[in-house]
Amino acid sequence: MKNSALYIHIPFCEQKCIYCDFYSIITKNKIDGYLETLLIEMNYYSGLLRDTHIFSSIFFGGGTPSLMSPSYISKIITTAKELFNFTDDVEITLETNPGTVNKEKLVALYEIGVNRLSIGIQSFYEEDLRFLTRIHSSQAARQTVFNAVEAGFNNINIDLIFNLPKQTKEKWFYNLIEAAKLPVTHISAYSLILEPGTILNKMVIDNKVKIEDADFDADLYLITIEYLTSKGFKQYEVSNFALPGYECRHNNAYWQYHDYLGLGTYSHSFINNERWKNLSALSLYSAAIEAKGSAKINIEKITDDEAVNEYIMLALRSSGIDIIELVEMFGDNWLNRNEKYLEVIRAGGFILYKENRISLTKKGYAVCDEILVNFK
Ligand code: SF4
Repeated sequence: MKNSALYIHIPFCEQKCIYCDFYSIITKNKIDGYLETLLIEMNYYSGLLRDTHIFSSIFFGGGTPSLMSPSYISKIITTAKELFNFTDDVEITLETNPGTVNKEKLVALYEIGVNRLSIGIQSFYEEDLRFLTRIHSSQAARQTVFNAVEAGFNNINIDLIFNLPKQTKEKWFYNLIEAAKLPVTHISAYSLILEPGTILNKMVIDNKVKIEDADFDADLYLITIEYLTSKGFKQYEVSNFALPGYECRHNNAYWQYHDYLGLGTYSHSFINNERWKNLSALSLYSAAIEAKGSAKINIEKITDDEAVNEYIMLALRSSGIDIIELVEMFGDNWLNRNEKYLEVIRAGGFILYKENRISLTKKGYAVCDEILVNFK
């Protein structure tokens, strides 16, 4: 059985945020129909994966999954558990907008089996939240974290965005201090990305808003790494920091090259060395599911050589190459081919071997791309 991750996309939002280019739907009259369609899609993939894959995580992403009722989320979880194999300790994460949940709803979500929340706080400054057109205040965001703890959650992520307009280094640092004070196990810190087609992008093009350059962005990133690691959070990939043992399984599935199945509009999958995405528009997605059970497009076959290269690239950029797993997944050809080069970069202080794992040193991280190019 392949250890895998399950992603469920919920495309509905209360309103559109100015920086967001995700596919999201504001009208609510399609919510019930979407659930029916998701269940059909689950049935389709159950027939293909039930004998070969075991899922250790479910991640509800969006959109705004927390806009759905607990009974809606529960129906998806119980149906998934009937149709697929899961580990006993499956991690079930729900992306949560603080403006959509009160304590009672969090208690209900915990009771139906959600055991990890990912709360989109973004900033602790009211002016930032207003600017980003978020539907919650800073106080509501903090209160959501405390309510979640009282509801029973002991695995909580918060999302923050840096390099917002008018954000000084001091203001960003204050956000980090406030984040680390909260009872959270995981912090995701993303740089603001200007996506074509968003309102924010147009504001920047029209010179109504100024975003600082890449050097400033890099400074904020370094401040983030230094501060969060000093507070006990380990950086286990580019934007994610976790207390020991609280790395997000769903994130790790991507970085450790495990299979993942995405269901719903706009989702992406990687199963048995085949990668695809689902149709984005709800009407097209629903029509495809009703006609043939799946809505996949852009199917890409990954060759064995491409697969091992992708595995090495992802592993080196995150927690390192697990030699035993590498050999189990791909045999020992890659290790044999690169034996001499590995010895050269080990002697040069670019990688180190520890407990069957090959990891980059700080010196190695700085030239990671060059190292990857030199592997055969
Ligand atoms: S709530 Fe999230 S998904 Fe919805 S529009 Fe805002 S940023 Fe995008």
